[in-house]
Amino acid sequence: MLCLPLFAFSQVGSDTVDLNYYLPTNHTYNSSIPTPQSVIGHEVGEWHITHDKLIQYLQVLSDTSDRISLENRGETFEGRPLFLLTVTSPRNHERIDEIVADRKKLVNGEIEPKEDMPVVIYQGFSIHGNEPSGSNAALAYAYHLAASNEVLADLENTVILFDPSFNPDGLQRFAYWANVHRAHQLNYDPNDREYREVWPGGRTNHYWFDLNRDWLPVQLPESRARIATYHKWLPNVLTDHHEMGTNSTFFFQPGEPTRVHPLTPKINQELTKMIGSYHAKALDKIGSLYYSEENYDDYYYGKGSTFPDLNGTIGILFEQGSSRGHGQESENGLLTFPFTIRNQFTTALSTLEAANGLKSKLMEYQKDYYATLRKEATAHKTSGYVFGTSKDAGSAWHLTEVLKRHGISVMALEEDYRSGKKEFGSGKSYFVPLNQRNPRLVDAIFEERITFTDSLFYDISAWTFPHAFGVSSEKVLKKPSVNMTPVSSLDMPIGSVETKSNYGYLFEWHDYYAPKLLHALTQKGIRVKVAMTPFKLAGRSYDYGTLMIPLQNQENRSDEIYAILSDFTSKHPLEVYSASTGLTEGIDFGSNNFDAVEPISVALLVGTGISSYDAGEIWHLFDQRYNIKVTKLEASRVSSVNLDRYTDIIIPSLGYGPNPLNEAAATKLKQWVREGGTLIGYRNALNWLNSNELLSFNTRQAKVAAAKNLRFDQAENYYGAQVTGGAIFEASIDRSHPINFGYTTDKIALFRNTNLFIEPRSNSFENPLTYTQSPLLSGYISEENLEVLKGSSALSIKSIGRGKVIGFTDNTNFRAFWYGTNRLLMNALFFGDSM
Ligand SMILES: [Zn+2]
Repeated sequence: MLCLPLFAFSQVGSDTVDLNYYLPTNHTYNSSIPTPQSVIGHEVGEWHITHDKLIQYLQVLSDTSDRISLENRGETFEGRPLFLLTVTSPRNHERIDEIVADRKKLVNGEIEPKEDMPVVIYQGFSIHGNEPSGSNAALAYAYHLAASNEVLADLENTVILFDPSFNPDGLQRFAYWANVHRAHQLNYDPNDREYREVWPGGRTNHYWFDLNRDWLPVQLPESRARIATYHKWLPNVLTDHHEMGTNSTFFFQPGEPTRVHPLTPKINQELTKMIGSYHAKALDKIGSLYYSEENYDDYYYGKGSTFPDLNGTIGILFEQGSSRGHGQESENGLLTFPFTIRNQFTTALSTLEAANGLKSKLMEYQKDYYATLRKEATAHKTSGYVFGTSKDAGSAWHLTEVLKRHGISVMALEEDYRSGKKEFGSGKSYFVPLNQRNPRLVDAIFEERITFTDSLFYDISAWTFPHAFGVSSEKVLKKPSVNMTPVSSLDMPIGSVETKSNYGYLFEWHDYYAPKLLHALTQKGIRVKVAMTPFKLAGRSYDYGTLMIPLQNQENRSDEIYAILSDFTSKHPLEVYSASTGLTEGIDFGSNNFDAVEPISVALLVGTGISSYDAGEIWHLFDQRYNIKVTKLEASRVSSVNLDRYTDIIIPSLGYGPNPLNEAAATKLKQWVREGGTLIGYRNALNWLNSNELLSFNTRQAKVAAAKNLRFDQAENYYGAQVTGGAIFEASIDRSHPINFGYTTDKIALFRNTNLFIEPRSNSFENPLTYTQSPLLSGYISEENLEVLKGSSALSIKSIGRGKVIGFTDNTNFRAFWYGTNRLLMNALFFGDSM
């Protein structure tokens, strides 16, 4: 067992803690500035700070201190404010607009760094809510910045963008857990319930998303607020304070030297190391153990410590061994909550020192970085990416929205454009020039990458956005010669209803928002039918999956139907056509090839043993995008509740821990399917469905050579190389199968992070969704796994009685930005009966 110096644990033996424990000894403090305890009623580290109390203190502090201004940038899904404190000297506050303007000029190459230009650091805390030492340290750090007499000199040189809680909803959830279990006789036994947070835990936000994967996709309100701050300021340093396992010490970046994204310049990592020497010195001083250049990588740009590296900022990850609750026995002795807070406080302060000490290097670096980007941009001259679709304006728009949030210039195509087989429709397609401020950021969003120097990834290895959004894209040498206009607004385009009809309406299934309209109609008891084959009417072609609303037998609701359609198309980019006759070229309106679509009532299995990420992504999709009510049904209760009220039940991927689904659940579900239910399963839930005869498929196993001539310390790499951590693959689709309705091309991209390979069936019509023979589009997969993936099936369907079981090998709802495959789940829900 390791022993820490005694003074590092001045709290041991006494359960009280004092603010001075955190603060440096060589500072004096202004007594008119209120301490945290005087406002919130407890000392820092005595209880876990709730978000309400955190913002209460920061409000009082900003009212009292002329060094702090506070703004609310929006709110979380649970309505908590997203506060940002701007902390700097009163002199700088008076000229804050000028400072922002000068920084713009600096990165644009219009001015040289000036002596009186402050360095800017963005310090953010506890993006994982159950890694609370960061936000608790923020209390002490904010006090220090407002009250220390000596820190003012640094604040003359620095603007701190102080983000006290990156994840307010998660922090609140975790504080509740830790505080309700806190005993007055503090008990550090790791078996105590205090350290065993229940599902889904406080790591994630309201819909159980990992906010530290959303810096690039910016789909969530917390990310949107901070990305706006980020691009306004382009800070020199950005820090991200986390926690890791209880038996670990303290980590600061740089991470693994071989696992840095190739678009990040080498000098970025050198500067990271220079900043690291300040952290090392500060932690040495208080006797804390630490490490760097191991474990963590700098690859996926969706992480808070990696995203900045693409933008001329030095991004830094901190990881503190977690006490989880108020203190816990560990391999390094007793790990108290205050001790974890003190390490975070100390490195927040050493970040400030480093930024001051390295100010000229950091300013030069940023200036040079953007000068290099300008050269790259000029070299690109007229080239760029064109992307879009022929029929789906919604998905194309949402990719544009991401680009705009990152300050990237985008042009909307005003005329149709075609390149080879790819069709880019007017109003549904865009051009992104590379000749702009940050072409590297554009490349990071659009590029496909299939060669790597390392085979280990901390997170996904590919995120190519056009694939994720289900749009075509092409890198072109010359800007397409069609009319274009710059996109200036964040408002989604809208559609229209052709005219009021007395006979019926039609809308195609291609737009991202078509399922939302279908659901709105069926929930109101309006009869809607789906076309099983294409047809033509009044000179217009209608594809597979076109929805038809007959007015016959619902004619007394004709005004209401028109009102719903008009209201919907005034907010979404969807075109609704009116029909005056049911006689078409192809299937007529009365044909049996128009299948009735029944209203859905959905249960989503959640709780212990289910992956909270996968479940949360589905809940968010239904609740936020499509306005579909979903019952979050505890998986362990399946066998004991009446399932008759549900038409569809979804099993997201199983997670860690024991499987909550037992034999009784399998029997119950089978009976429910037999009576007409649609059961939808994902990823490793398929194995459970298969072994309980709810699905029937054979799997393939990759042939991996035995480890020969490898050392013990090479084992991690040997196993790690076979992990498919998240890459993008091409699948062939049968467009006539209802699972694929809405797609306009016969190939789609799928996101995959499993090694489940399903043998296709002998009848080709039973394989509507299979991987191609050359499936790798972007990302890392081992050669062995790639071999068995080729031609394998991404879908398994089984009919039981009057119902269906539908299994997807892959997550089609990944992290809220895989718009392109969301429709597969909608097709399973609405058209399951037609399969
Ligand atoms: Zn974390």
